[in-house]
Amino acid sequence: MADALTAHLQALGGEVRTGQTIRSFENLPKHQTLLADIGPRAFLQLAGDSLPPRYVRQLSEYRYGPGVFKVDWALSGPIPWKAAACSRAGTVHLGGTWDEIAAAERAVWAGEHPERPFVLLTQPSLFDATRAPSGSHTAWAYCHVPNGSTIRMTARIENQVERFAPGFKQRILARSLLTTRRLEAYNPNYVGGDINGGVQDWRQLLRRPTSVLRPYDTPLRHVYLCSASTPPGGGVHGLCGYYAAEAVLSTRGTRHSPHAQNAPSAQASQQ
Ligand SMILES: Cc1cc2nc3c(=O)[nH]c(=O)nc-3n(C[C@H](O)[C@H](O)[C@H](O)COP(=O)(O)OP(=O)(O)OC[C@H]3O[C@@H](n4cnc5c(N)ncnc54)[C@H](O)[C@@H]3O)c2cc1C
Repeated sequence: MADALTAHLQALGGEVRTGQTIRSFENLPKHQTLLADIGPRAFLQLAGDSLPPRYVRQLSEYRYGPGVFKVDWALSGPIPWKAAACSRAGTVHLGGTWDEIAAAERAVWAGEHPERPFVLLTQPSLFDATRAPSGSHTAWAYCHVPNGSTIRMTARIENQVERFAPGFKQRILARSLLTTRRLEAYNPNYVGGDINGGVQDWRQLLRRPTSVLRPYDTPLRHVYLCSASTPPGGGVHGLCGYYAAEAVLSTRGTRHSPHAQNAPSAQASQQ
């Protein structure tokens, strides 16, 4: 997907530069418009003193939600699921009963680490041979934890998988762990390990990150927010960037129809 999106951007005359951490907007190359794929906290840091106090207060009040703890595994074979259908699924959600899932998620919101967490697991090598050497497999899983948690959930996640796939633990060759801190170091948008760009409750659906008609706009001229901390929120749908681009185009008087071919959907991201 990343290659396809980059190729599309290049075909339109764009250029992608990676490997640079932006610490101030002043470090950016010369530009006409800036779409910042970052959250409110980073925006406050990068924009410095140039923002009006009211906007600073609104962004400071923005709330981040639970983080995630993630494990990547190298496996000697496929996960031996009890339910055959799970061996045909790219992603498996492990929680037992509905009540059990609700209790686990409620515990996380209360600042606790559930003994039986709700585990989201993917097993890409079942469908993509490039993901593991022949005969072996890879998989990864995460569970929610309180924001900024430093607790390792490895054993609890592996117990949950073992519960639904007896023999799983014997197939683990190696593992790599991502705590909330390591996740945030890897991607500063994951504040406290929150991969959703902030709490997504009713209040923050309407106030993402501010409660104005076009929350992509910022008080800075030609500077826009386009991350998961804008509507419609976290996920790989790309719509935050799409609507931010629409906001830019309508400001410039060149608004495209959302149904037009090649409608703008590129999201500027510097890494
Ligand atoms: C393990 C995991 C599983 C997920 N599973 C799903 C799923 O199944 N379905 C789903 O819809 N969503 C999923 N998500 C969430 C989804 O990936 C995010 O909500 C989404 O990518 C956020 O998009 P974004 O544009 O806000 O930011 P990002 O995709 O995080 O892009 C921002 C980019 O900017 C870079 N950046 C940030 N600050 C700076 C800086 N100062 N200088 C330079 N570069 C910077 C970051 O490194 C990053 O590359 C998952 C996330 C994770 C981590």
